[in-house]
Amino acid sequence: MRATSNLTTDFTTNLTTKCENGYHFEVYVVLPLSRWLMRAGGLALPLALAACAPSPPLARGPLPVVTTAVPITLFTRAVAGDCATVTPLIPSNLGPHDVQARPAAVAALAQAKVLVTNGLGLESYLGRLLETAENRRLLVIDTSRGVPPLTTGDQNSDHDHRHDHGTVNPHIWLDPLRAMQQVATIRDGLATADPRCRAGYEQRATAFIQQLQELHRDLGRQLQPYVGRTFVTLHDVTPYFAERYKLRGVVLVDVPEVNPSPADLQRVATAVKASQLQALLSEPQEGHRSFETLAADLGVKISVFDPLETASEEAARDPTYYLQTMRRNGANLVQALGAPSLR
Ligand SMILES: [Zn+2]
Repeated sequence: MRATSNLTTDFTTNLTTKCENGYHFEVYVVLPLSRWLMRAGGLALPLALAACAPSPPLARGPLPVVTTAVPITLFTRAVAGDCATVTPLIPSNLGPHDVQARPAAVAALAQAKVLVTNGLGLESYLGRLLETAENRRLLVIDTSRGVPPLTTGDQNSDHDHRHDHGTVNPHIWLDPLRAMQQVATIRDGLATADPRCRAGYEQRATAFIQQLQELHRDLGRQLQPYVGRTFVTLHDVTPYFAERYKLRGVVLVDVPEVNPSPADLQRVATAVKASQLQALLSEPQEGHRSFETLAADLGVKISVFDPLETASEEAARDPTYYLQTMRRNGANLVQALGAPSLR
């Protein structure tokens, strides 16, 4: 977490500053039409007059929070409750790889008190947005803080990517235990920004962390018979998940936008045959023609491992969507792996 400022201000009072006597400093703008200005080229320069006036008691609305990727939005909503309004910076149907700065994102960022990010290079677009938004009072919660990272394997492909995940793989939310750490970091950050609601943030975080714990326990039990087995996904989303449950993840391409080389196709075909996989695991929004062709050639099905990089708007409002999706991923994976005895 990085506090760019610990001052608190509300976006509705952007144009006001506190007077020393506790009153607000209201700015009035008038347009003088003096002859001198007219002669100077017809420009009317604004002249600011200031006056201190009694201000109404501060309205204590919910804390304005903005978030980045879908899992971060879900985790933040799980902790926020009624204490904060959570606004995703990018539409939930766009993956974190597709992001372009939109005026709405800049406006939301300028008005927020807190920004919650995944970190580890997932939000490479943020630097420019933050510069444009010029919100010096923004508190940034980097949920990757304290989460042990894994480097992105270089065995998969050496294409020249339009963009890539960098050297550190950012998909930490797909390991329920790392997700627990992310939720705890969000809890602490929100409580710092908004101490009035500390008890609520703590209570909700505890409840969600407990659900993540149960999810982890269930996935561990379900996948235990498959320890050491290989599964195949479309892009490089599963290293944290695979490490947690002692599986071996093979990917077709590093990022979805890349077309696989013949060597990539061969590598996956070998893995599928060696481990007698029943299905390749694709992603809901990222269908890949070559992945489907490959599955057909190998006589296996296409199933889904949803990395939660996208979601419908409705789903992105419901924190339990993370839990449901991860359980579905576990079930699909078990089906793709087939009989437990195969190694
Ligand atoms: Zn990704």
